[in-house]
Amino acid sequence: MSQIQLLPAVQALLSQPGRLFLGGTWQDAASGRRFVVENPATECALTEVAEGDARDVDTAVDAARTAFNGEWARQSPAQRGLLLLRLAELLDQHREELAQLITLENGKPIANARGEAASAANIVRYFAGWPTKIEGSTLPVSPASGAPMLNYTLREPVGVCALIVPWNFPLTMCVWKLGPALATGCVAVLKPAEQTPLVAIRLVQLIEAAGFPPGVVNLITGLGAATGAPLAQHPGVDKIAFTGSTQVGRLIAQGATSNMKKVSLELGGKSPNIILPDADIVRAAKGAADGIFYNQGQVCTAGSRLYVHASVLDQVLEELRRHANAHVLGPGLDPSSSMGPLVSARQLSTVSGYLQRGLEEGAELICGGGRPAHLERGHFIEPSVFLDRAERACIAREEIFGPVLTVMSWTDIDELVLRANDSPYGLAAGLWTRDLRSAHRVAAQLKAGSVWINCWNVVDPASPFGGYKQSGWGREMGKNVIDAYTETKSVFVDLA
Ligand code: ADP
Repeated sequence: MSQIQLLPAVQALLSQPGRLFLGGTWQDAASGRRFVVENPATECALTEVAEGDARDVDTAVDAARTAFNGEWARQSPAQRGLLLLRLAELLDQHREELAQLITLENGKPIANARGEAASAANIVRYFAGWPTKIEGSTLPVSPASGAPMLNYTLREPVGVCALIVPWNFPLTMCVWKLGPALATGCVAVLKPAEQTPLVAIRLVQLIEAAGFPPGVVNLITGLGAATGAPLAQHPGVDKIAFTGSTQVGRLIAQGATSNMKKVSLELGGKSPNIILPDADIVRAAKGAADGIFYNQGQVCTAGSRLYVHASVLDQVLEELRRHANAHVLGPGLDPSSSMGPLVSARQLSTVSGYLQRGLEEGAELICGGGRPAHLERGHFIEPSVFLDRAERACIAREEIFGPVLTVMSWTDIDELVLRANDSPYGLAAGLWTRDLRSAHRVAAQLKAGSVWINCWNVVDPASPFGGYKQSGWGREMGKNVIDAYTETKSVFVDLA
């Protein structure tokens, strides 16, 4: 086992406690408290980070408001675009550092972390193009009085945005939200997950280096209840953008009613992936395996329910077994590892519990199902596949957030669509077929925010992403997200 060398900048970051970034200055939490960030591959402490509480949240929100009403409001759209471009360049320049931090605190293989760091720069670059293109319209109104009337709309930034993000894509999730917030002229208080604050700290250092005015982006690290909750409930926050569990999303939506904050939520999923009998089976099975095993299955869009036509079931199961067994589990910093550990002991315990329940409830274990014997430390779990003929086990219905695939078979396409849609979630769905008519007909019937045909997990900053049903409110990326960070003002001018 040989691991890559940590860059000096990464070592420097680990050598001292992480701090909050409030109103343009790096500082300790008001309480002086810190929490430990763990390496999930070794279970050893990486460093400590400031543990913010309600007082720090107040400071962050005040600093954001001051920036919103001050220098930031005077920057032209072109200047905002340039700052975002500068940030994208810095993200490119520091890509390897960011990737190492992602792997250290999240556990994912370094190749995947490098992909995440590269895509972060591209996302920011995409949003850099928006400030100069956010426009209102002139509308053909018909006043009853018959008076000549001009009506036009203005798009204005919503204001102070609380951006609360999870640990599974710790850099991507930050830029998905910071990109549109900054492009539209909003200001932000960013709250990373307690498992993965380090890459967010490095990102905010780069935001500072790019030259954004003080207070435009504030960083508050800490725990969900002590830091996230007071931020989500704060009366000075105008909008919350949250990605995380449906359970916390519900709390955030409830808390937002105190001052009617705008809310966008990207929550859980239990996404159906469907293989039709005419599909390229080898390619479909590879796509299905990648769709569940990528990122150790810790993906809100994981294709965790696989519906395979009965005529090709045996072949698909064989291919899935082959792909699962081919995975090399090990620390993400070892380039030969294709699958890292789960993010935390808690996550390992949740996923292990589901493996146990799957067996108890009669699902048939095809491969995996336990912890790898050769790894003594770290939150590792084998990629696992179950066949659930009755589709009754909880592993066929509940979000696991781990590398656990539940396979079911089908014969009638109309009945299958009902089964695929029979879920409280509606984030993503996929189908594998060579038949154009089936592809588009089924895609139209699936209740999901993203439908992937002969692919899985394709996301693009130009294309909207989000969920039906309990998978969320609103859409991120594309034109839709610009709407979510702006208010529309309608102006009437009596020309009589
Ligand atoms: P997970 O269960 O996968 O860790 P969570 O939904 O708990 O996902 O966490 C996602 C983000 O929400 C994290 O940044 C976390 O700190 C934050 N969070 C957790 N609980 C709350 C809460 N009650 N209010 C606001 N944010 C929270």
